[in-house]
Amino acid sequence: MNKPKVGIFGFTGCGGCQLEILNLEDQLLDLFAAVDVVHFTEAITEHSDNYDIAIIEGSITTMHDVERIEHIGKIAKIIVAIGACACTGGINCLKNLYGVEKAKELVYGDKKGWIDAIETKPVDEYVKVDYYARGCPPTGLEIIDIIKSLIVGKVPEIPNYPVCIECKRLGNTCVYDLGITCLGVISRAGCKARCPSSVSGCEACRGVIDDPNVNAQKDLLAKYNLTVEDIMEGFNLYNACRKIQQKAK
Ligand code: SF4
Ligand code: SF4
Ligand code: SF4
Repeated sequence: MNKPKVGIFGFTGCGGCQLEILNLEDQLLDLFAAVDVVHFTEAITEHSDNYDIAIIEGSITTMHDVERIEHIGKIAKIIVAIGACACTGGINCLKNLYGVEKAKELVYGDKKGWIDAIETKPVDEYVKVDYYARGCPPTGLEIIDIIKSLIVGKVPEIPNYPVCIECKRLGNTCVYDLGITCLGVISRAGCKARCPSSVSGCEACRGVIDDPNVNAQKDLLAKYNLTVEDIMEGFNLYNACRKIQQKAK
């Protein structure tokens, strides 16, 4: 039987999501036995345009990124976005809050003309994304599980319930009681409430669930004499592109 061909591509990001895959040394051997990896930006120099599944890390922030992702979109049968940068635009979307020209000037000064940066967007603004492994970063195991599901023709299970559920199951003290804000009411779970379990607030690195209970989040804020503005800085860290997504859907 022919093995599925997989390309793992890096766009604008820190490379941390690809590292999560590389760090899974034992499982990696099984993965390489089950699929043909024809491109892996951080791991191999070979490249082929013959692949069925494209795994995409990073957001789209330059015209060169746009050309590359559209090229991949024409080839791949299935596209999986991995990490906040690819899924929601992630931390790179902070640039959009300044405006592209101002951001270029702040970082590159009089050399800003050398940079072809455009407004940051998540991958699904340019190509259809079939599955999302969310988080900054998602765990390598989550990414491998999605690939394994696709190999056997299963639909990967991706959580669509809030971090609060995982947090309460773990018996954590709610960080609001400790004077810390948290977006766990509306944020997509799957990280086992990593931040609240370390006594810090969730900043929705996995994005917002499909049908967030915004009123519950507002009620929680009101209970602690806080307002929506008090959580916007945390929200924008990974979700400043969300307006773009809402416009598209
Ligand atoms: S999602 Fe996070 S870990 Fe992955 S590339 Fe972006 S910044 Fe890096
Ligand atoms: S608001 Fe945050 S800390 Fe409180 S229960 Fe929900 S996830 Fe946990
Ligand atoms: S708790 Fe929130 S910010 Fe922290 S890893 Fe989970 S989803 Fe991301």
